[in-house]
Amino acid sequence: MTVQHAFEAAFASIGDKAFTAKYRASCHCQAVQYGVSAEPVDAKICHCPVCQTLHGAPMQWAAIFHKRHVRITRGLDQLRFYNSELQRHERILPCKVSCAGCGTLIADEGRKMWLAFPSLFDFGRPPQVPASFKPRCHIFYGMRVMDMADELPKWSGHKNKSDLL
Ligand SMILES: [Zn+2]
Ligand SMILES: [Zn+2]
Repeated sequence: MTVQHAFEAAFASIGDKAFTAKYRASCHCQAVQYGVSAEPVDAKICHCPVCQTLHGAPMQWAAIFHKRHVRITRGLDQLRFYNSELQRHERILPCKVSCAGCGTLIADEGRKMWLAFPSLFDFGRPPQVPASFKPRCHIFYGMRVMDMADELPKWSGHKNKSDLL
């Protein structure tokens, strides 16, 4: 099984007639496009050093979907994978998924879940972000480089597995 086939098998297939895209996302160069058929099951902001470095940003905003609710419609052959723990460009889960053409980070692919980056979604202009995508907590807040003045729970590390700050 090629990486492409293994990847495809985990997600909703192109031929699945029951799949209706509720929201659509694409990378900067449009080579990679995908849709999701459900609302996110959770949404959070991660302040861990890996996200800070790989995203070149103070934090990472992720909305979490089951992979069966995700369908890649374009650019499957453009996807690149990076396992930060092993520092290997291979699809060893969990890993970062990016576009080979423009370098946009597309998602964190876990074993069962797809942690989408909502900035890639088309929410209109100006964007109207659905309530389900709004972050519900901060994680790895103990590693933050920027304070957040909001009422959301702030976990020092993983959600429900670390101290609330
Ligand atoms: Zn791209
Ligand atoms: Zn992180």
